[in-house]
Amino acid sequence: MQCWHCERPAHATCRFCGRAVCREHVKELPFVLEIYRGRTGQPRALVVADAVWCGVCKPAEDPVDLPDLD
Ligand SMILES: [Zn+2]
Ligand SMILES: [Zn+2]
Repeated sequence: MQCWHCERPAHATCRFCGRAVCREHVKELPFVLEIYRGRTGQPRALVVADAVWCGVCKPAEDPVDLPDLD
């Protein structure tokens, strides 16, 4: 795979959209792994602080509500 920005060989893939990026163009962005409710009922998030990001896509800052999937 080649870097989305410079077409050199890529070293990583964006965690959010899947674009490939080389070491020079890779960026970092917090990635929410999981949302759960704490003991008090307050929503909490498990976050990876430096997930690979391509710098092109625009991940939403807040998770969106999903319709019930049943
Ligand atoms: Zn590049
Ligand atoms: Zn991306």
